[in-house]
Amino acid sequence: MGAEPLQGERSAPSELVRLKQQAAPAALDGAAGRDETASPDEAAVPDEAAAQEGAQAPDRVFTGRPPWTLMYHSVDTVPEDPYLVTVTPERFVRQMEWLRRRRMRGVSMSELLLAQERGSASGLVGLTFDDGYADFPREVLPVLLRYGFNATAYIVAGRMGGHNAWDVDGPRRPLVTIAQVRQLASAGVEIGSHSLSHRRMAGLSGEDLALETRRSKELLEAVVDGPVTGFCFPYGASDEAAERAVGAAGYAYGVGICHQHTASRWALPRCYVGERDGGLRLRAKQIRHTLRGWTC
Ligand SMILES: [Zn+2]
Repeated sequence: MGAEPLQGERSAPSELVRLKQQAAPAALDGAAGRDETASPDEAAVPDEAAAQEGAQAPDRVFTGRPPWTLMYHSVDTVPEDPYLVTVTPERFVRQMEWLRRRRMRGVSMSELLLAQERGSASGLVGLTFDDGYADFPREVLPVLLRYGFNATAYIVAGRMGGHNAWDVDGPRRPLVTIAQVRQLASAGVEIGSHSLSHRRMAGLSGEDLALETRRSKELLEAVVDGPVTGFCFPYGASDEAAERAVGAAGYAYGVGICHQHTASRWALPRCYVGERDGGLRLRAKQIRHTLRGWTC
């Protein structure tokens, strides 16, 4: 599970040109919940490709109850964790064991949404990891493989091989390299976009929204040599324009965090999981999700 840091690699421009030409909704076939009834106000992104393809984006409203999805960031042993985004490897294993004992299987978001669309999502729970921390190949992937689980890793496309520069006051944490992203995709992990630069997207201009959604998709698709169909909002911060930009960029779905009462396909709610979450707390969160359709 090569966790060795491979620095300095960047996507070949020719690869990107090719991807730019072929990156399109065709790549979304078979991914989550494609509803062809696009709403009339769906197509507003200032880009020639968006004008052609974005109009085919699925409805914003997610029909049915959003499936239970856990949100992680980092799994590691660290001296300080001011933003509470880190779960120790020991706790993470116990959480996966808790799922297994309850006959639940952790899956990627794409698999989860596809299963839900087919009416076969019972017993499945989405496992998602934001930011693309370098501990994922070392601490997460081996556990997923051991349990027969899968997950989605949302990568900040413009920061691969770098560090969490957006947390200016927090501890510096390394991020997965391009080579590691490729290895994760080869291992079957779903690679999603966590934007280009990890900017807060609510309130951004149309041009910047297109950059964060479309450009990050192109970069990641060039890396994994396949479709990238999921988008994850930095800080969970979205507004209607930002969500529409995700749809217009050709993603099949987007995820946010919580407190979203009306489910949007572009900002599906997820359940925060932290170091304090043992079985009892996880059970309480699961019950809240069952009762309300979202957790937090
Ligand atoms: Zn993030």
